[in-house]
Parts: sequence; structure tokens; C-alpha cells
Amino acid sequence: MVNISVVIPCYNEEAVLPVFREKLEEAAGKIRSASEGGTGFEFIFVDDGSDDGTLDLLKKFTAGDTITRYISFSRNFGKEAAIFAGLEASKGDYIVLMDADLQDPPEMIAEMYSMAATGDYDCVAARRADRKGEPLLRSLLSKLFYRIINRISDVQIVSGARDFRLMSRKYCNAVLKVGEYNRFSKGIFKWVGFKTAWIDYANSERAAGKTKWSFYKLVRYSLEGTMSFSSAPLAAASLIGLLFCLISFILICVIIIKTLVFGDPTSGWPSLACIVFFVGGVQLFCTGIVGEYISRIYLETKKRPLYIINEKSYSSDKLNTDDKN
Ligand code: UDP
Ligand code: MG
Repeated sequence: MVNISVVIPCYNEEAVLPVFREKLEEAAGKIRSASEGGTGFEFIFVDDGSDDGTLDLLKKFTAGDTITRYISFSRNFGKEAAIFAGLEASKGDYIVLMDADLQDPPEMIAEMYSMAATGDYDCVAARRADRKGEPLLRSLLSKLFYRIINRISDVQIVSGARDFRLMSRKYCNAVLKVGEYNRFSKGIFKWVGFKTAWIDYANSERAAGKTKWSFYKLVRYSLEGTMSFSSAPLAAASLIGLLFCLISFILICVIIIKTLVFGDPTSGWPSLACIVFFVGGVQLFCTGIVGEYISRIYLETKKRPLYIINEKSYSSDKLNTDDKN
């Protein structure tokens, strides 16, 4: 029998969870009845420190249900940590990762599974064919981000790629081996390699509740993506520094020659002040880039856990019984 684990990170999703669960069970039921050898499911909900009724709902879901489990964090650790915890807890032969807001349609799991079951792919992932329903500025900036990161980084990230995917056990274990603290899953998924199939689908708006991404969070996320997979900004900083050294060297020569030829008039201080400010700004900018990398090294060397579990459901079986968390 093939087992499929479905991992769902949830942060303040009480509005959408009941509908989501219904749809998920419906989709799982269809796969079960279509398969010959039988298909087992486990649903792992990861409550990422929600402060609404999400945890209560999850408790209700798991009561008297042997295939649903939850893990609840002690605070909000972010989606990346929730994904990691869910993947770590999963036991299935195939693992599906999806959002709770129904932007990742559960009906697609059947198609993903049938593609993966052929054995040709270790990962079947969803890609948004469009960005309908997204604010124009956000969509433009996202496109710009993907263009830049694909230019400067070692891994190519598919534009419109979602975290929504079905992976084989082998692929999932590879993702779990990447134990870095500052995680950028879209890059990690690509970095681990293996064959990935893409399924295009139309973007839909979340069924209920609000998006958890503020503009600031998106900017931080794109910085994370760039810095995790590229050191090009560091090189850019050194290049800018070099360029300014050259310019100032030329300027010094010009000034010396001018003074020797025309004497030393006191005019010219405003342009001088401008140059001082400008060069100062560039220096700070470059130091800032270096600082961003150093702060990541700092966090990485602390080796803090990615998440802390507050409670979790201990359903029927052996899951993580050695975990005293
Ligand atoms: N999420 C999470 N922790 C967070 C933010 C989001 O677990 O700190 C979950 C959220 O509950 C949802 C998924 O990540 O299931 C995607 O979030 P959202 O729909 O807000 O993102 P978007 O679809 O707009 O990219
Ligand atoms: Mg969403």
C-alpha cells in the first residue's frame, strides 16, 4: 500500500480550515477509491503559533480521527519553519505540501500523484500560469525579483512556482538534509536536484481569511532568497568600491594638475561636499550588504532550532515518540 502524507502549514487560518479539510478529504477519498492496491493518507497540520481559533479547530479535527495530526508551535516561526516541521514529521512514501487557504486546489493531488507514480519524477510541482487577482505592484516586483535572482544565483527558480508540490520520500529526505537556519524553500527545492514535473494552473484568490504577507515581509523574503543562493551582491559591493577608487584617483590627478596650472581658487567646495556625501553613502550601502551576510552567518552559527513545539497530537502510532519536545 502506498502512503501519502499531506503537510499543511497554518497561521491564523480558522476561517478557511473547515472548508479546506472537507475538500482535502474529498480529494483523498477519490484517490483512495481509484487506486487498486489501496492508498493510505495522513494529514499533518502545522499550527505556526496562530493566535485565533486555529489550534482549537485542529484539536477538533484530530479527536477520533486516526489520520489527522497536528503540531503546534510555541510562537509564530514563519512558514519555512512550519514546512520543515511538517516534512520532518511525515512518514508517507509521498509527501504533499500545500497551503490551507485553498489557493492550492486539493483536486490537483490526484494528477500529481499519478505523474509521480509512473516513477519518472521525484517531484511534481504546481506553477501559477498567471498572477490574476494579485495587486499590480506586487506582481511587477515579483517578476523583477525572479529575473534578478535567476541572473545572479546558482539555482534557477521558476517564476510563478508555488510551494505546492508532491515529493517522493527520497526528495523529501534530501530537502530535510539541507538544515540551514535561513531557509528559502523555493531555492532549496531546486538545489536538491532530481527530476521535477510542472503542472500549470490558474491562480485563484484565497477562499477566506487574509494573506500573511505584508509588503515588508515580501521584501525580507526576496532578500532571503537572494542571499541564500547568491553571493553576487558582495561582488557588486566590491566592484562599486573599486569603481569609486578609480574615479577618485582620476579626480585627484585632475585637481593636482588644475592647481598647478591655474593656482588654488577656493571655489568648488559644494561639489566636494556632494562627492563626500555620495561616496559615504556608497560605503554605507556596501557595508550594509556585508552586514546582511554576516547577520546570516551569525544566526547560522548559533545553531538554534528552527522551531519549538508547544504541543502536538500523539495519534495512534509511533510518530516522533523519541522527541521529548
Ligand atoms: N503561513 C504560515 N506561517 C506564516 C505565514 C503563513 O504557516 O508565518 C501559512 C498560511 O497559513 C498558509 C500558507 O502559509 O497556509 C501561505 O500563506 P498565505 O496564503 O498568506 O501566502 P500567499 O498564498 O499569499 O503566498
Ligand atoms: Mg495563500
